[in-house]
Amino acid sequence: MVSYDCVFCKIILGEILSEFIYESELFFAIRDINPIALTHILIIPKIHINYLELIHEFPSFDFNEMYAVALEIASKENILNSGYRLVINQKEDSGQEVEHLHLHLIGGNKLKDIG
Ligand code: 5GP
Ligand code: ZN
Repeated sequence: MVSYDCVFCKIILGEILSEFIYESELFFAIRDINPIALTHILIIPKIHINYLELIHEFPSFDFNEMYAVALEIASKENILNSGYRLVINQKEDSGQEVEHLHLHLIGGNKLKDIG
C-alpha cells in the first residue's frame, strides 16, 4: 500500500518529517511546501494511488470523504465563505509532480482566473 520512492509515502512512514494538520484512518493533510496562495493544503489518502483511473482497485478510497475533509479544513482555515479552489492534477499536461493522488485546497487570497 506504500511506494518507497514516493514523497507522500515517505511522509506517512515518518521518513520525511511534516506536520499533519489533519489525520484520520484513511487521510492526512499537510501544508504545501511551495504554496501558491496564503492557504495551500494537500489532502492525501494514506494508500498509494497513482492515478484517478485506478481508484476502482482501492475499495477503501472514498471521494466523498476526501472532499468532506477538504471542506472541514476550509472551515478551520476560515476560507469557506471567502472562496477556495480544489484541484487534482493528473499526469504530464497538468504539471503533476507527485504520483500519489492528492487534492489541493487553495485559497486565502484572490486566485488567478483559470476559466
Ligand atoms: P502536484 O503537482 O503533484 O499536483 O502537487 C504536488 C505538490 O506537493 C506540489 O505543490 C509540491 O509543492 C508539494 N510537495 C512536494 N514535496 C513536498 C514535501 O516534501 N512536503 C510538502 N509539504 N509538500 C510537498
Ligand atoms: Zn505514495
